[in-house]
Amino acid sequence: MIMTKRILISGGAGFLGANLCRKLLAQGHAIVCLDNFRTGAQRNIADLLGHPRFTLLQQDVSEPVTLAVDQIYNLACPASPVHYQADPIATFKTSVLGAINMLDLARRLDVPVLQASTSEVYGDPHIHPQPEGYWGNVNPIGPRACYDEGKRSAETLFFDYHRQHGVAIKVARIFNTYGPGMHPADGRVVANFIVQALQGDAITLYGDGRQTRSFCYVDDLLDGLVMLMNSGPEVTGPVNLGNPTEFTMRELAAQVIALTRSRSRLVQRPLPIDDPRQRRPDISLAMHSLGWSPRVELDAGLRQTIAYFEAMLADTAIPA
Ligand code: NAD
Ligand code: UDP
Repeated sequence: MIMTKRILISGGAGFLGANLCRKLLAQGHAIVCLDNFRTGAQRNIADLLGHPRFTLLQQDVSEPVTLAVDQIYNLACPASPVHYQADPIATFKTSVLGAINMLDLARRLDVPVLQASTSEVYGDPHIHPQPEGYWGNVNPIGPRACYDEGKRSAETLFFDYHRQHGVAIKVARIFNTYGPGMHPADGRVVANFIVQALQGDAITLYGDGRQTRSFCYVDDLLDGLVMLMNSGPEVTGPVNLGNPTEFTMRELAAQVIALTRSRSRLVQRPLPIDDPRQRRPDISLAMHSLGWSPRVELDAGLRQTIAYFEAMLADTAIPA
């Protein structure tokens, strides 16, 4: 039997956060969702607002928070390059001050805190696939640095609070994750390609499309996050969570076009500055320490995501 807990999810109105709220509510837990709606949407959690075990706290994670919970998931931070670069200073503050506030709360309450870190800590990697022991190749002054260095600094803080104050930390390095619940204007590649294909618009391939990513379906990723949170205290991470099957962006575009039976054509756009050439997780540590590995292949995950966007686009004009 699962012991029910009161769980804080910062960034709980975002893509991963709203899906995590639903998963943990379904397990019987009470959820406090903290979000300032920078990239999250009321629509994502509209169905949860009347739930007796769901509380919304509209607040910036950069501000200190006082409440009593048994676990903390720190997901608050815009994750799509277009959104995190729109206000880079706010992005950096969110990562760093958000980490400090969540760690201070975890320390006061003596509860575990999980950090949603990222494969971006590896930057444009020279080691492939990326194991956790690789220190990465990040440009500290480029347009992606507000996110990459913000997340690297947050990891530093997590390990310092662990060593200095004994805080129970769990650091997950999340690789590109997609699925139902993404905002149609999210700006990340899976959302862009599917929405473009469904609307018959040109599919925007950045650069030559030979850069790679490894895409994890949201349900797999959330299983990994929850397993990490509930693992023994010796498992602090950082641990890679992602699907190790790697695709070029050109292959992804072809698959989306085939699955949507779209007549959209590819159009090339400039490759964004510092766009990593390749990315694939080494998930040996997650397999051995958590017994976790992803199950949903890209084809099956894309079908679910396409069905979700199809229903949304049929229902409404794209919400802002
Ligand atoms: P998202 O943009 O959909 O969600 C982020 C949420 O955080 C939004 O609801 C947003 O409003 C909220 N937020 C942003 N700044 C805030 C602030 N200052 N105070 C309070 N709330 C704030 O992104 P996502 O894909 O759901 O990502 C969730 C977390 O997982 C992020 O920390 C992201 O860095 C991390 N992550 C995601 C991926 C992925 O592929 N989805 C990969 C690596 C890491
Ligand atoms: N990309 C693309 N077309 C788009 C959006 C993104 O070709 O419309 C590329 C982008 O240049 C990158 C990859 O897809 O190489 C993944 O981009 P995304 O923004 O999803 O996430 P990233 O892994 O770069 O943070």
